[in-house]
Amino acid sequence: MTVDAHPELPEFDYIRPASLLEASRFLADHPGAARPLLGGTDIFVRMRDGFYKYRYLVDVKGLDGTAQIRYDPDQGLTIGAGMNMNRVIAFPAVQEHYPLLAEACRSVASYQLRSRATIVGNICNASPAGDTIGASLVLDGRLNVHGLDGSRQIELTGFFLGPGKTVLQPGDIVTSIQFPNPPQPSAGNYIKLGRNTWSDLSIVGVTAYGYCDPDTVSGCRFQVALASVAPVPLLVGAVEEYLASQPASPWAFQQAARLAEQACNPIDDVRGSARYRKAMVRNLTEKALQKTWARLNESD
Ligand SMILES: Cc1cc2nc3c(=O)[nH]c(=O)nc-3n(C[C@H](O)[C@H](O)[C@H](O)COP(=O)(O)OP(=O)(O)OC[C@H]3O[C@@H](n4cnc5c(N)ncnc54)[C@H](O)[C@@H]3O)c2cc1C
Repeated sequence: MTVDAHPELPEFDYIRPASLLEASRFLADHPGAARPLLGGTDIFVRMRDGFYKYRYLVDVKGLDGTAQIRYDPDQGLTIGAGMNMNRVIAFPAVQEHYPLLAEACRSVASYQLRSRATIVGNICNASPAGDTIGASLVLDGRLNVHGLDGSRQIELTGFFLGPGKTVLQPGDIVTSIQFPNPPQPSAGNYIKLGRNTWSDLSIVGVTAYGYCDPDTVSGCRFQVALASVAPVPLLVGAVEEYLASQPASPWAFQQAARLAEQACNPIDDVRGSARYRKAMVRNLTEKALQKTWARLNESD
C-alpha cells in the first residue's frame, strides 16, 4: 500500500509483516531504507521534516509479544513494544509497584498523543530528551530484542550511543521492555522543566529514585538520571556513589546536586542555554532527591 497523507510527508510503503522473523528479515534486507514503526509520533514528524528518508515503514505492533502488558511477582513487569502510554499508566500493577514509570509517562505531551506514543518508541528514538527514559534506566529496564539470530536481552544502560543512535543492528526489533520487581520500600519522582506545562520536550528532566540498601552508610541507595543535558540520557554514577557513602541529609542532597551539575554537558538550543540548563540540573536534582527521600520515609 502506498501512503501519501501529508503534503510534506514523503511517499513511503507501509509494510505489515506476519511474523517477527519476516519483519527482521525485511529490515535487514533494506538497511537505511526500512525502519520499524510503533505509534509513529516521532518517526512521522522526522520524515515530514526531512530528517529521515525511509522508503518502508515496518509496522511491528501486534507481532509476537508486542501487544501485551503483564506483571508477575517473580518476573516483574513486561511491557510489549506496542503498548501505548495511556494503557501503561492505567495498568494496576504499574500504579501499585512502578508509580515512577506512570509519572514519567504522564509528563509526555497530551492524553491524545499518549494514546499513540509508546515507551519502547520513546527509548528507540534515542532522544536525550525522552521523558520515560530516566525512569526506565533507574528501574533497571532491559529490552527484549528480536534479530536475525533470534532473541536477546539488552540492558538499557549500554543502549544509547548518541542522539538518535543506539546499539540496535539492522533487523533488530525491540519486542518489549522488562523491569524487575522494585526493592521494597522504594520511591522516586520525575521533575520536568519545559517551556510550558502541557506539551513540550524538556529543557531539563531529572529522575530521582531511592530504595533501602543495608550495604550503604545511609541505609539507602539513590540514583539520578538526567534528560536533555548530554548527547545521551545520563545516569549519574557520581551521585549514586556519593550518597551511598553519606547519611541522607539536606546537605548531602545539595552536594549530590552539584555532582549532577558537574556530570552533565548540555548545549545551547531553542529551549534553553547550556548555562541555564546546568543551573536547573543543580536546583532540580536537589529538589528531586529531597522529594524522593520524603516519599521513601512515608512508605516506610
Ligand atoms: C506533539 C508531540 C509532542 C511530543 N511530546 C513529547 C514529550 O513531552 N516527551 C517526550 O519524551 N516525547 C515527546 N514526543 C515524542 C514522541 O511522542 C515519543 O518519543 C514517543 O514515545 C515515541 O513513541 P512512538 O511509539 O510514537 O514511536 P515511533 O515514532 O513509532 O518510533 C520512534 C523511533 O523508534 C524506532 N522504533 C520504533 N519501534 C521500534 C522497535 N520495536 N524496535 C526498534 N526500533 C523501533 C522507530 O524506527 C523510530 O526511529 C512528542 C511528539 C509529538 C509529535
